[in-house]
Amino acid sequence: MTLAENPINILIHELSKLPGVGEKTAMRLALHILRQPRDYGQRLARALEETVAKVRFCANCQNITTEKICDICASPKRDRTTICVVEDVADLKAIEKSQCYRGYYHCLHGSLSPVDGIGPEELKIGELVQRLTTQIETREIILATNPNVNGDATALYLSKTLKPFDKKITRLATGIPIGGHLEFIDQNTIARAMEGRRVY
Ligand code: ZN
Repeated sequence: MTLAENPINILIHELSKLPGVGEKTAMRLALHILRQPRDYGQRLARALEETVAKVRFCANCQNITTEKICDICASPKRDRTTICVVEDVADLKAIEKSQCYRGYYHCLHGSLSPVDGIGPEELKIGELVQRLTTQIETREIILATNPNVNGDATALYLSKTLKPFDKKITRLATGIPIGGHLEFIDQNTIARAMEGRRVY
């Protein structure tokens, strides 16, 4: 067996591709997994395999789901006139937890970052534009990207791109710290920012 074929090296190599995980952290994680009882590694492997096999992105809003359409999009109780645009599924979950919003979402799966080579094509912006052409009941689009350089650039880009649709475009109010992430902000602050959203 060559060094490259050694399973632990393959595991380290694959783990090191995760965001924020370098070669050293990948090795620490792999060794940690090895030190756990054997069934932990097996459960982890199974969870990974099942996730990859069964979980996909909602055909409507790009949220994660095991069905074609996610629970939120499928619910008759949601307000169909509003779409809240978020960077990530974690942000969507944070807003849902705050219980301040009953409309639809659209998950971009990232934010514009020219430094990292992430342009509009890398985000689910085309899917949002496509949605707006068919979901004519939409009246308001809330730009809930994070209040940092990339999130602001994304909001600005979206406001220009979506302008031809002639919808009310709003941005979450301040109260969310500059440079902050929705994912890590408490529910009350999110609820206040949602209530105080302003026309963009
Ligand atoms: Zn959905």
